[in-house]
Amino acid sequence: MRLQVLGTAAGGGVPQWNCACPGCSGARAHPGRRRSHASLAVQLDDGCFVVNATPDIADQIEACPWLRPGPGPRQSPLAGVILTDAELDHTIGLLRLREADTLQVRSTPVVREALRPFADILRPYVRLTWAAADAIPVSGKRPRYAGHDAGLPESPEWVSALRLTDGTSTLVYAPAMGVWPAALDDALATADCVIVDGTFWDDEEPRRTGISAKTATRMGHLPIEATMERLARLPGRCLYTHLNNTNPLVDPDAEQHKVLAELGLEVAADGMVIDL
Ligand SMILES: [Zn+2]
Repeated sequence: MRLQVLGTAAGGGVPQWNCACPGCSGARAHPGRRRSHASLAVQLDDGCFVVNATPDIADQIEACPWLRPGPGPRQSPLAGVILTDAELDHTIGLLRLREADTLQVRSTPVVREALRPFADILRPYVRLTWAAADAIPVSGKRPRYAGHDAGLPESPEWVSALRLTDGTSTLVYAPAMGVWPAALDDALATADCVIVDGTFWDDEEPRRTGISAKTATRMGHLPIEATMERLARLPGRCLYTHLNNTNPLVDPDAEQHKVLAELGLEVAADGMVIDL
């Protein structure tokens, strides 16, 4: 499978425009530490897809040689977008793709329902077709804009781990993971590559850094400390992505990198090409 990591940051990116935390300040001082919003480019049997449509999507497409347009003047290899959830940082890039003629969007039904306002806005510009994603539910946490008064159903399918395969190799991608269900174990055990939620290093990080009154888990993200031992036992290559700017891993000199390396785990980087 052709696979390129397009971005590796959680919401806001690194640096985040309104943030002067050590992680963001470090990325301003050292441009090599910059991370755009988490996304992937994958080539499947039926075309090239971007996984999640981030605010950075146009630059991310440009950064991936096989997603660039041509040879015709308005001919793009991009068939569509596969969504893990309906969070703004993973979906507002859909609006950025309004120049397309047609786009296929793959998601769970509840994510499609939440994005109806986007579909309405895009209708005069681009023909959207919707299809199901090969998804394993990993959190019932809905986006803040789709709160309990928004008329949208309770569902375990608000956030998914995606199984992506081209017939020869399989990737499991789960940039947000609030729970670890048995069905995920089965998918991970047979995956050639696993790229998962590395938003926070430990459960107290959001509270300690003052970005939230909730723990990482309450925010819908199992922290790395809670998943690394289990990932280390998997047969496939395992990488963390979706790093928040508070995560110590945004500093390449952080000792946490050694902890992961000793377990045989990696941290994904923007632009990384993964051979599967
Ligand atoms: Zn910051």
